[in-house]
Amino acid sequence: MKLNINFNKGNGLVPVIIQDKDSMQVLMQGYMNEKAYQQTITQGKVTFYSRTKNRLWTKGETSGNYLLVKDIKTDCDQDCLLISVEAVGATCHTGTTSCFGEMADKGFVYQLEQIISERIDDNIESSYTNQLYKRGINKVAQKVGEEAVELVIEAKDDNDDLFKNEAADLLYHYLILLKAKGFMLSDIEAVLKQRHTK
Ligand code: AMP
Ligand code: ZN
Ligand code: ZN
Ligand code: ZN
Repeated sequence: MKLNINFNKGNGLVPVIIQDKDSMQVLMQGYMNEKAYQQTITQGKVTFYSRTKNRLWTKGETSGNYLLVKDIKTDCDQDCLLISVEAVGATCHTGTTSCFGEMADKGFVYQLEQIISERIDDNIESSYTNQLYKRGINKVAQKVGEEAVELVIEAKDDNDDLFKNEAADLLYHYLILLKAKGFMLSDIEAVLKQRHTK
């Protein structure tokens, strides 16, 4: 990562916006001086310059809730940074995911993807999602097929509620199938985006 950053405008500091790489949620904002930036890129963990502590501050140094760097971008005039991270635990010291509280993120479908993933990874016995997942890829794929057929049937009818419900069923089972195949919605999004640029 070779970025030209203008530290002069802010007396040696640039504002840094921290964004979750999956949810795109803004997690927090801090400042970096050149040393903080260098340490951040060499360690792969976000280190700020703390104006309160008056020293370099690696986010997570006491809590263990580090911000692992995935990508760093500058803005149009190189006086601000946007860092895409994988956050370990809660980012805010008050225990919330974001310092800004509940924020606009990529939307509920992505939250649902996260919930599905947790049900499976935590092996929640009472969860239908997890039970279906454990029956294997073929069973999950079959359910997607069934829901697709049900959606097709409802498409021919004119009952909006039934149509919307089957569309929801299909989307939900589709997310489980992606998980079972080891993919994320963002992987499919990338395929669609790439087609768009061709
Ligand atoms: P940590 O860097 O997570 O180990 O937290 C160390 C200290 O930094 C906390 O006790 C807070 O005073 C402060 N702190 C941690 N996270 C934040 C944050 N997201 N925004 C502002 N201050 C924080
Ligand atoms: Zn700028
Ligand atoms: Zn906070
Ligand atoms: Zn259905």
